[in-house]
Amino acid sequence: MKNNKYILISFISLMVFGVPWLVNNYPKSANFIDGLFTYVNESYALVFMRNSITVNQLQDKYDSVKNAKQKIRILIAPGHEPGYGGAEYSNLKERELNVEVSKYLKDFFTRDNHYEVIITRNNNSWDSEIQKYFTDNWNEIISFTKKNKEDMIHLVNTGSIVKVVDGVKHNAAAANVALRLFGINKWVNENKIDIAIHIHFNDYPRRNSSIQGDYSGFSIYVPEKQYSNSTTTKIIADAVMKRLSKYNAISNMPKENSGVTEDQDLIAIGTFNTLDAPSMLIEYGYIYETQFADVKSREMILKDLAFQTYLGVQDFFDAPDNPAIAYDTVMLPHLWKDSFDIKNFDRGDVLSLQTALTVEGFYPGEGKTKNDCPITGKFGPCTIQALSNFQKKYGINDEKGMVGNKTINILNTTYSPSLRQI
Ligand SMILES: [Zn+2]
Repeated sequence: MKNNKYILISFISLMVFGVPWLVNNYPKSANFIDGLFTYVNESYALVFMRNSITVNQLQDKYDSVKNAKQKIRILIAPGHEPGYGGAEYSNLKERELNVEVSKYLKDFFTRDNHYEVIITRNNNSWDSEIQKYFTDNWNEIISFTKKNKEDMIHLVNTGSIVKVVDGVKHNAAAANVALRLFGINKWVNENKIDIAIHIHFNDYPRRNSSIQGDYSGFSIYVPEKQYSNSTTTKIIADAVMKRLSKYNAISNMPKENSGVTEDQDLIAIGTFNTLDAPSMLIEYGYIYETQFADVKSREMILKDLAFQTYLGVQDFFDAPDNPAIAYDTVMLPHLWKDSFDIKNFDRGDVLSLQTALTVEGFYPGEGKTKNDCPITGKFGPCTIQALSNFQKKYGINDEKGMVGNKTINILNTTYSPSLRQI
């Protein structure tokens, strides 16, 4: 009751004092709601005064890479520590999946001469430069963290910054783990990193952790809008989200379901306003999702998640299409050779089939979402439903519930590698 009263009084005060002020002070052409947000953003950026990297600076740098040989510096940080931490499900360890995606991502970036990539760790140890930085600068990292935290608390207490209290709850990191994350932020600031990407897989708390949880899909966390690195990060994250969501489900967890979620408390993306560079944290899916269980499917799926991320960053830079890349997914092109059905199928054939059916607009089937029917490499009801609509379109009526020679011919006509050479 008491709380409600307080909120009501605050709201009335805002309406009485705040709105007339905004109406008088905001440019007339701006949409009022948009204007409110823009105003809030600019005002907070002034409060924090960090030398954050702007969208224009970053895009100009990309455009000048050819001449200056000064590449876009990307930091890829596989979430958690070498050897411990992170979600686990069945025999899967998140910290290892994170490293696998990071390696693929590094490959895609470094094949392109616009980028250079640093990965913070592998499965066994930190990158030697990062490790040396932790060792040599531990006290500085502690004071950097303390100072930024105190500044933030001061700004919250004086009312200059609004503390977000209804964000997604995250597991708190142990003190030394948290300090290493702040240390990475400090290192990012001092080593002219242009974009930081933190790689994770999600988990959802549940009583029996040996069964699958309630939610599925990916989500990208970006700095809350009051932080200095929020604007640039959000634009990059939106581009990556658009790519990822073509073939992958967006998280259906209520607070994550816009695909890109603001967060004030995640260290990796700059809590306490600790980062100059844009930094996003990608949860590529929930670790218990079916498509990560099989080793063969998983390898391809992780590779494609990395590829979509790379393409999203390329979109941010408005990079021209690379003629060597014929498809926007690593699942295609594909050459189907043998017929298959629910009892006997090759996961690679099915991954590419599901992807082709997605491109054709048949997968997931009517009334189904990508969360109901993710691309899994498993030939099951989702694939059969989509396949039957595909076969209907091409007048194939004697290969029900299976991919026979006629279906293979149609698939290979459009999606096989040989076509690219014609
Ligand atoms: Zn994680």
